[in-house]
Amino acid sequence: MKKIKIFIDAGHGGTDPGAVGNGLREKDLTLAIAKALKKYLEQYENVEVRLSREDDRTLTLKQRTDMANAWGADYFISVHINAGGGTGIETFIWNGNVSAATRNNQNVMHSEIMKAVGNVRDRGKKTQNFHVVRESNMPAILPEFMFIDNANDAQLLKDPAFLNKCAKGMENGLVSIFNLKKKVQPTPTPMQTQSNTNKLYRVQVGAFANKANAEALANELKSKGYSVFIAE
Ligand SMILES: [Zn+2]
Repeated sequence: MKKIKIFIDAGHGGTDPGAVGNGLREKDLTLAIAKALKKYLEQYENVEVRLSREDDRTLTLKQRTDMANAWGADYFISVHINAGGGTGIETFIWNGNVSAATRNNQNVMHSEIMKAVGNVRDRGKKTQNFHVVRESNMPAILPEFMFIDNANDAQLLKDPAFLNKCAKGMENGLVSIFNLKKKVQPTPTPMQTQSNTNKLYRVQVGAFANKANAEALANELKSKGYSVFIAE
């Protein structure tokens, strides 16, 4: 089965802090949200996730879209924090000739983000001529999560639980768009060792003078699904 490739671009980084305000730097918040989203997506089958950066490094906009295009991503998400007077969340797609999938994905992502984040202003679904949404070859979205220079928004952005909600909203959107399924957790079977090494731990459950009594217990254990042998 072909894996769904999600490219998450943590906006800014390195020598470019992005917007700053209230003791916060955009580049740190975008990285935290991108990493949280990656972690959430690791719970699903058939998804591959790549981040434009996993640490505080400088990348040009072209490097970011080149990475996603060379990889052949199915969706491009560029995480940003707003500034310049305002409050709340808005999402952007390219203001040029975009695919129907780009618009549909924005509808789904936008409403799931607003649902997960809760009681903040919905600034709406917008279009812009941003490099990353224009030059990516796949459907792309650029969410702006809150205003770093707004004291109330910054208060929320300082709470890791709030950043996780932003990631959760995108996770829910992606689950809906790509019909993602949670990985099945393996359940341990009786007597199976949980060791990482090749060691086997034997468990003795009884010692009997009379062989018939040993066999009776062995049969009972076998009936419960254990593998049993009698040693003399
Ligand atoms: Zn930004």
